[in-house]
Amino acid sequence: MTERGNQIQAVISDFGGVLTTPLIESFMAFQDQTGISSETLGKAMQAATEANGDNPLFEMERGEITEVAFLEQLTDSLEPLLGHRPEMHRFKEIYFEALDPNPPMIELMRELKAEGHRMAMLTNNVREWEPLWRPMLPVDEIFEMVVDSGFVGCRKPESQIYALTLEKIGLPAEACLFVDDVLINCEGAQKAGINAVHFKDNDQAIPEIRAALAGLP
Ligand SMILES: [Mg+2]
Repeated sequence: MTERGNQIQAVISDFGGVLTTPLIESFMAFQDQTGISSETLGKAMQAATEANGDNPLFEMERGEITEVAFLEQLTDSLEPLLGHRPEMHRFKEIYFEALDPNPPMIELMRELKAEGHRMAMLTNNVREWEPLWRPMLPVDEIFEMVVDSGFVGCRKPESQIYALTLEKIGLPAEACLFVDDVLINCEGAQKAGINAVHFKDNDQAIPEIRAALAGLP
């Protein structure tokens, strides 16, 4: 391994599930408030993907379809499963009401910036949701750039979005550390040559991030 003071100069953090509480809480809140189980929601997403040729969530996250179009497709796919047409207009509100900031990770990001690291955010997100997620944490104070799938036309774990992020940072892949709660997103980063920490919880991730930045194995 490299010596202390190794080559990692930039930290690239995910948003949802890393800088926030776990996303599963949003899906549980959706289930509680609509009576639609996560299993049914999953089946509807699968049916919508088959009907559409691509996962409508992924299309929304690439900014290829609007949130309204996404919810229509999801509603169309839920209707035969439920036997009625569900009301989905509060999807976004329910999702965000159940999501809280994750202070220990936000504080870590603040410290890493103060220690001189370049800081970037790389998020699979939805254009229309920006006014809801941005106020959850001091984005502009900590991060010099945000790469948001909804605005760049590609999403994690697609190789283009890592290349785009590296290009914006202007550093080689090996000088960057990526943090994400979704394993395939970490694997996508590693394929691009970026160091990655798979976030599972604060107690696991914070020391792993510290170790990676210190050049420890
Ligand atoms: Mg995430």
